[in-house]
Amino acid sequence: MGELVWEKRQFGHRARLALTPAQVRLMDDQAHAARAMWNQLHDLWQMTPKCQRALTRMDQALRQARKEIDWYGVLPAQAVLKTYFQAWRNCWDGRADEPNFKARFRTALSVDIPQGRDLQIKRVHRRWGMVNIPKVGRVRFRWTKDLPVGKLANKENRITGARLVKDGLGWHIAFRIQTLELKPEPHQGPEVGIDAGVKLPLALSDGNHQDHGRPARLPDGTADRDKWLNPQEKAKLLRLEQRAAHRKSFRKPKERSSNRLHVTYDQIRQLRARATRRAIDWQHKTTTAIAKQYGTVVVEQLQITNMVKSAKGTIENPGKNVAQKSGLNRSISQEAWGRTVTLLTYKTARNGGTLVKVPAPNTSLRCSACGFITPGSREDQATFVCKNPACGWSANADWNAARNVLHLYRIGLVTIPAAGRAVVRRTRGVKPAAAR
Ligand SMILES: [Zn+2]
Repeated sequence: MGELVWEKRQFGHRARLALTPAQVRLMDDQAHAARAMWNQLHDLWQMTPKCQRALTRMDQALRQARKEIDWYGVLPAQAVLKTYFQAWRNCWDGRADEPNFKARFRTALSVDIPQGRDLQIKRVHRRWGMVNIPKVGRVRFRWTKDLPVGKLANKENRITGARLVKDGLGWHIAFRIQTLELKPEPHQGPEVGIDAGVKLPLALSDGNHQDHGRPARLPDGTADRDKWLNPQEKAKLLRLEQRAAHRKSFRKPKERSSNRLHVTYDQIRQLRARATRRAIDWQHKTTTAIAKQYGTVVVEQLQITNMVKSAKGTIENPGKNVAQKSGLNRSISQEAWGRTVTLLTYKTARNGGTLVKVPAPNTSLRCSACGFITPGSREDQATFVCKNPACGWSANADWNAARNVLHLYRIGLVTIPAAGRAVVRRTRGVKPAAAR
């Protein structure tokens, strides 16, 4: 018998908040104040000489600002400071880009609650939970998953924080959950390479491709950003966009946009949020199925933000085919490859499998049949044709890349070793998580 191994898990859970219109206004105000404070912090950060940048200094400045600007009172200011510094830490650790100013209309409204204990979560009904929202009060949310709260919570199994996010469908809460669970038996399933495809959403090296049946491209070759909407919804979106453009045309420069225009924008946002929810739903179902079936999942180490940037190039050295590349990039971003990898990471771990990342170069240019690499062997986006005269193999380009991804793993070219930090411990004294 092997030793019992406990594993630390971190994952998120999202629930819709049931807010009254007055509470929605409170939340909106709070989020706008948080954004304004973020911008002020960022301004301060940029003006401070590098050697003097410190948390305590920013904290002092923040206290002063709270005294002077009364509407900052609607805000748990410390939370904004913490979130801002976390953004820098994420940047320094290579997880994200540098923090930047947040624009009024382009930024999704959000408020961070860095401390889990402030939430005071309680289950009040089979389907409802209650949560404490700072400066708003007790709010109900849909209980769709067992959370480690109350008697189930302890040092190892708890909610470590949350983020309040507003999308077109309203305010949501995204809990950050940490649990300690028994490490499952190693998954005996096969290995598989996965590529974030151009034609196929997820191409698998064994040919078991995952498709949602919604073409990623329009007939003219451009990325279809509304593929998750049905024809009626697409028609409605088009009408709304035309209406918005029409209403916008009456606006004089420097004039506030009308309430009618904002209503139209809200309707557009609502449709887009519905599309996003469908995309995420599909991702969850697909990644669950993959994690159940395969023992080792190999993916490409992609840097999406870098790809979008590098397509543009610099002033001295402008990028080529910027439009096509950004179209392709957009479609990759839209397939939300990053989220797919995140989901696969924790889902494979939960099933006893592993997720492995391999370096990306040449996976789309190498022939998976003979190993020959030639620039330009990708005939078009959809088909790969090998330029090696002795081979001449041709196949679906995404499938070829997926086979190359698996090949890189098999020859031992791995950038990040098996994910998951296992904690070896005896069963005594440790309470397993109830949440699963
Ligand atoms: Zn070949």
